[in-house]
Amino acid sequence: MIDPFGRHISYLRVSVTDRCDLRCVYCMAEDMTFLPKSEVLTLEELERLCGTFIDLGVRKLRLTGGEPLVRKNVMSLVRGLGARIGSGLEELTLTTNGTQLTKYADDLAAAGVRRINVSIDTLDAAAFKAATRWGELDKVLDGVFAAKAAGLHVKINAVALKGVNEHEFDRMLAWCGEHGFDLCLIETMPLGEISEDRTDQFLPLSLVRARLKQNWTLNESSHTTGGPARYYDVAETGTRLGFITPMTHNFCESCNRVRLTCTGTLYMCLGQEDAADLRAPLRDPALGEEGLRAAIADAIARKPKGHDFVIDRRRSAPAVARHMSVTGG
Ligand code: SAM
Ligand code: SF4
Repeated sequence: MIDPFGRHISYLRVSVTDRCDLRCVYCMAEDMTFLPKSEVLTLEELERLCGTFIDLGVRKLRLTGGEPLVRKNVMSLVRGLGARIGSGLEELTLTTNGTQLTKYADDLAAAGVRRINVSIDTLDAAAFKAATRWGELDKVLDGVFAAKAAGLHVKINAVALKGVNEHEFDRMLAWCGEHGFDLCLIETMPLGEISEDRTDQFLPLSLVRARLKQNWTLNESSHTTGGPARYYDVAETGTRLGFITPMTHNFCESCNRVRLTCTGTLYMCLGQEDAADLRAPLRDPALGEEGLRAAIADAIARKPKGHDFVIDRRRSAPAVARHMSVTGG
């Protein structure tokens, strides 16, 4: 799959559910309304659709959400997709909040998952509870260590939030180094109504990086995971530190990804509204596999050049109305 700007699309992110057992303040409102089950693809439909994408050239697939591990029977999908590793698919990964990892870490490893991203914004239990509204840090840390024990490589993702975790990054980097985890810091993006003002939370990572450089030797790394992060090797720990800066740095030129929601809607860009419905062709027996492939090809031909997130400090409305938990973070 090659888009109009010559970019090879080889990475599919799939939001397997819009539901979640946490309510992170920058991601969801506390009283979120979730999709009716009838609109959500079955796990069998998701597996078939992902299979078609793999046949068309997707090499890396990430399951996300919402919280992917709260979807009932999600392991059947993970096992089904894991079986495609080595026959088309090169890598199956997962982004999770970690609350269910003690239960699933071994099964994930057995299904062929080698790396996972776990979102932890702070290592302070009270601040963690405040940031996630409902989360218990200890439970998540138990999950992270279960993943490590199962042989999964863990990357910790933290959204940089002014006044929440901005003075904690040294400690987090040291903790990650101690346990062999990479750390990736992310700028907040203006996605979805959340009942709070995001411009108050926005913390530019250029500032964070400059502060960290005072205490750590950060050597620019050529490492890439096929994503938008810029990596540094941390000399003191032997682990990596990544920065994802959608607001201050344009990473669209090398974009290789598209995003599928749990209703079968394909978003060609996280920061744009245009989308293609794949549920109708998926469910139409008259169209068959060829019809589905044609719908995907049509969508890829519409992939835009890039997003245009801007921080407008006079406006608290989000740049894109749908939440990250819908499109899949
Ligand atoms: N529930 C899983 C988790 O938290 O890892 C997967 C889905 S979550 C939407 C994926 C990632 O998106 C998380 O790391 C989360 O912190 C991030 N995220 C959510 N809303 C965001 C926003 N408005 N700006 C930047 N990152 C966001
Ligand atoms: Fe749930 Fe992940 Fe959003 Fe937090 S960031 S509310 S864990 S989907």
